[in-house]
Amino acid sequence: MSDKKQFKSESKRLLDLMINSIYTHKEIFLRELISNASDASDKMYYKALKDNIQGFSREDMDIRIDTDKEKRTITIEDHGIGMNEAELDEHLGTIANSGSNEFKQAIEDGKSDVDIIGQFGVGFYSAFMVADKVEVFSKKYGDDQAYVWVSDTSDGYEILPSSLDHHGTKIVLHLKPNTDDENYDQYLDQYEIERLVKKYSDYIHYPIKMDMTVS
Ligand code: ADP
Ligand code: MG
Repeated sequence: MSDKKQFKSESKRLLDLMINSIYTHKEIFLRELISNASDASDKMYYKALKDNIQGFSREDMDIRIDTDKEKRTITIEDHGIGMNEAELDEHLGTIANSGSNEFKQAIEDGKSDVDIIGQFGVGFYSAFMVADKVEVFSKKYGDDQAYVWVSDTSDGYEILPSSLDHHGTKIVLHLKPNTDDENYDQYLDQYEIERLVKKYSDYIHYPIKMDMTVS
């Protein structure tokens, strides 16, 4: 095992907010992860156009969402540009997108999460609203080696060599245990996922496919 790396302090604060202070609209994690998958697919698509690489069409670049009731995981997988080891570290260890900065500011200004969480693109860390462990498997287009970024708390993450049978990214969310107030199992339900995809991600111009492992 490699050494655990620490989140940058700004990112850690945002992450702590996501983990501990947001009680509503948790479902928007799916919108954020699908939007990232779509952005990465766009990057791949435009690279293929620019470099005249054959065999890329938007219809073939699915975004897959799978749930596993036994393992209590939800997986979002894309055929986008992917990330190498340095990019996993840089992009997921430090979150600097403008939506999350505005979001942090709004929380600090005392606005309630009800008002704001739906409004901003709060980004990748929103995964930690519903998951207590997140694995990001990624292989950059053109590379042979895949890596996995894994974090189970706000105190750090690790990046290890791994495998993925295609370029792109596969994010595995290990859902938090249910509580009296929150039923995380709802995100294992295909119809609920379909509803969220329709509600938030209807505009995405890649096919979004779903399958379920029911056990
Ligand atoms: P934003 O999308 O606003 O840049 P996020 O917090 O959602 O911010 O994501 C941070 C960064 O992580 C992205 O800018 C991108 O570089 C990288 N990233 C996240 N998800 C993926 C993915 N599925 N494929 C490739 N890169 C990704
Ligand atoms: Mg994003």
